[in-house]
Amino acid sequence: MFSKVLIANRGEIALRVHRACKELGISTVAVHSTADANAMHVRLADESVCIGPPAAKDSYLNIAAIIAAAEITGADAIHPGYGFLSENAKFADIVAAHNITFIGPSADHIRVMGDKIAAKATMDEVGIPLVPGSDGGISGREEGRRVAAEIGFPVLVKAASGGGGRGMKLARDASEIDTAISTAQAEAKAAFGDDAVYLEKYLELPRHIEIQIAADSHGNVVQLGERDCSLQRRHQKVLEEALSPALTPEQRAQIGEVTRQAIEKLGYLGVGTVEYLYENGQFYFIEMNTRLQVEHPITELVTGIDLVREQIRIASGQPLSVKQSDITFKGHAIECRITAEDPETFAPSPGKISDFHAPGGPGIRFDSAVYDGYTIPPNYDSMIGKLIVYDDTRELCIARLRRALAETVVTGIKTTVPLFERLLDQPDFLTGEYNIHWLEEWLAQTT
Ligand code: ADP
Repeated sequence: MFSKVLIANRGEIALRVHRACKELGISTVAVHSTADANAMHVRLADESVCIGPPAAKDSYLNIAAIIAAAEITGADAIHPGYGFLSENAKFADIVAAHNITFIGPSADHIRVMGDKIAAKATMDEVGIPLVPGSDGGISGREEGRRVAAEIGFPVLVKAASGGGGRGMKLARDASEIDTAISTAQAEAKAAFGDDAVYLEKYLELPRHIEIQIAADSHGNVVQLGERDCSLQRRHQKVLEEALSPALTPEQRAQIGEVTRQAIEKLGYLGVGTVEYLYENGQFYFIEMNTRLQVEHPITELVTGIDLVREQIRIASGQPLSVKQSDITFKGHAIECRITAEDPETFAPSPGKISDFHAPGGPGIRFDSAVYDGYTIPPNYDSMIGKLIVYDDTRELCIARLRRALAETVVTGIKTTVPLFERLLDQPDFLTGEYNIHWLEEWLAQTT
C-alpha cells in the first residue's frame, strides 16, 4: 500500500480522496492555487503545496508544478479526482515516467476512451451495443450529408474529443446538417483543439443509464449496477439515482454482465463507468469515463462498497475486496448536485457563504468542502456540495431528501436548493417517468 498520496484536485472530491486515504493509513498532500489557500482540502491534508495562480491552466492543470510537488513531498502516488487531469493520458504517462503511481487506468485506455470515435470502435469489438451512426469520423459536410441521410434524421453531430456536453449539435432534417457540422467543428476546435466530429442517430426519448465497473490486476472484474442520470440540463447531470426506476432486475443483470465481460476483454484496470442511452428496452453505448465520477456515492450507498478505497487498493496492486457474487443491491440512493447558481436563471453566484449548515441525521451524506464564511472563488465549477440520501425504498428516499433539503442552510449566495424542492413535487419525478429532455422541458415551462 502507498504511504503518501498527492491529491491533484480541489473541492469536495479532494476531500473525498483524502478521507479514503486517511482510513487506509495513508498520509496526504494537497495541492492548491493561490485562490484556494484557505480551502478545506488544504486545511485537512497532512501537507500542502501551492502550485500556481487561480486560473486552472496555471495551477490544477499545471503538470510540471504538480509533478514537482509530488517529488518535493515524496508522494508515491497521485490521485487525479475527476475533471482537471483525470482523463489526460499524457499526464498519466508523465506520472509513470517519474516512478509515481497514477491512481487510474493505463494511459492507453485513457487515450482510447478519450477519443470517442476510437472508443466506439473499441467497444464494438468487445460486444457493447452502439448508437447507430457514422463508421468513424466524417471528413466534412459532403460525407456528413450522405451519412446523415443513411442513418435517418434527426442526427447528432458530436465531437470526438467532446466532454461536458460541448461540441454537440442537433440536425433535425437535411436543411440543418451543414450548420450543425460546422458549428460542432468550430466549438470542438475552440474547446478541445481538435475538430474531428462524427454522427449519431439522435434518440428522441432515452434515459441516461451508466454502469459502474471496477477491475484489479488479479483478473477480477466486477460491475456494481447502474446509475440513472437522466435529469440533465445542457447535457450536464443535475440529479442521479441508483438503482434506475426504469429497469427490471433481468434488464439490470443483462446489461451489467454484457458490460462486465467487455471490460474484462479490454484488460482494463481501475474503476470506470460505461455510459449508455436506454430507449425502448435497448441500450446504446455513448462513452466510457476512465475515472471516478461525481455521482459515485449513490453506488457506494446501494452496494455498501467504498469505491475510492477499492480504486486505491487496485492501483497499489492489491485485489478488489469483493467478487461479483458478493455484490448485492439494497435500498435506494439519490444525489442532488447543489451549486452556487440562481435556481431559475442558472447565473453563477460565487461569493461568500455567510451562514452554512449541512443536513444530517439517518441516511444523509453531504460531500462538500465549504464552511461558514467560505468564499466560493469564481475560477472553478460552482459546486457547493453533493447531497446524497439513502433509504430502503425510492419513496422513503424521496421523503428523506425533502426533509434534508429543508434542513440545508446556505446564505449569502444563491443556490439550487429551491430547484430540487420544486422538483420533488413533480408527479413525473415521483413516478420516475422522465427522460434526458424532461428537466429542460419542465424548466422551460415553469421558469
Ligand atoms: P459528454 O462527454 O459531452 O458528456 P456524452 O456523449 O456523454 O457527452 O453525452 C452527454 C449527454 O448528451 C447524454 O447523457 C445525453 O443526454 C445526450 N446525448 C448524447 N448522445 C446522444 C444521442 N445519440 N441521442 C440523444 N441524446 C444524446
